[in-house]
Amino acid sequence: MYGCAEICLDKAKPCMDFLRGGLLKMATFVYEIRCPHCDWPISLPQTSLVRIIQDRIMSDTDERLLVFVCQECMSAFRCETHKLALTDAPLQNQVAGRIWFSILAQCDDSNCPFREELITIRGPGTTIEQCIAQLPQWKLDGVLCDDEHQIVLTLPESRTHIGPL
Ligand SMILES: [Zn+2]
Ligand SMILES: [Zn+2]
Repeated sequence: MYGCAEICLDKAKPCMDFLRGGLLKMATFVYEIRCPHCDWPISLPQTSLVRIIQDRIMSDTDERLLVFVCQECMSAFRCETHKLALTDAPLQNQVAGRIWFSILAQCDDSNCPFREELITIRGPGTTIEQCIAQLPQWKLDGVLCDDEHQIVLTLPESRTHIGPL
């Protein structure tokens, strides 16, 4: 059953609807990411992490080092995705319909070409406007570029992405 779900995700819409409607409420393989700042658990189905990696704006960067922003404390942290443990846990109902949002950020040295994509998970029905309205609350302290410049959200007209999980 899991095998079918994965294979069909990209190709067959009816199968996807079935996935959303029923299978996800039973059990699936889930990554549990813990916010290092507040310990908030972010449950991410395996297929959702694959989707984020495939659909992110900077898809040519290292997929093993994504930057997430915690939905609880709004702090950003680097997540080593290849070190996450996969659990066979029942998903809570709130997982259905969630979205993910990402935005490109630069570092505080404007001569540095580095760009970082910041990713956050939000509840069902969250709009891109609501995500953007929350940006001033994001805490990016300690998220650095390769040259150890602080990452900041100052890119004018920055590229954003929003998609289903
Ligand atoms: Zn947190
Ligand atoms: Zn830099």
